[in-house]
Amino acid sequence: MTTEKFEKDARTVHKFIQLYCDNKHKNTQKNQNFIELNYKDKDLGKLKYNLCKECEKTLKISYDNLLSCPHDEKPSCRKCPAPCYEKTDWKALAKIMKYSGMKMGLLKIRKLFGTKQK
Ligand SMILES: [Zn+2]
Repeated sequence: MTTEKFEKDARTVHKFIQLYCDNKHKNTQKNQNFIELNYKDKDLGKLKYNLCKECEKTLKISYDNLLSCPHDEKPSCRKCPAPCYEKTDWKALAKIMKYSGMKMGLLKIRKLFGTKQK
């Protein structure tokens, strides 16, 4: 896949997992760290995160899988003919994407109607 696509996907998954962990694991001990974004020998900067152990694991798995995705034109993972996720990992990620997707959708709607955000 293109570097742009890779960076976009990596940043999206990072944003979603961070949002999920911020909301769902408020009282869990967090670990501050970062991932070096690197693709096709191109330095794309850092992904800083502040996640609990569980979410950190999910983020790393997602990142590794994205990195080794063999598709030139990356399909949506849901529609992939050769999924690289273990079933349990995929379930964890799917839950996060759904939750955060809804949250972000709501934020967008609020912005659209000019309602104040908390
Ligand atoms: Zn978490």
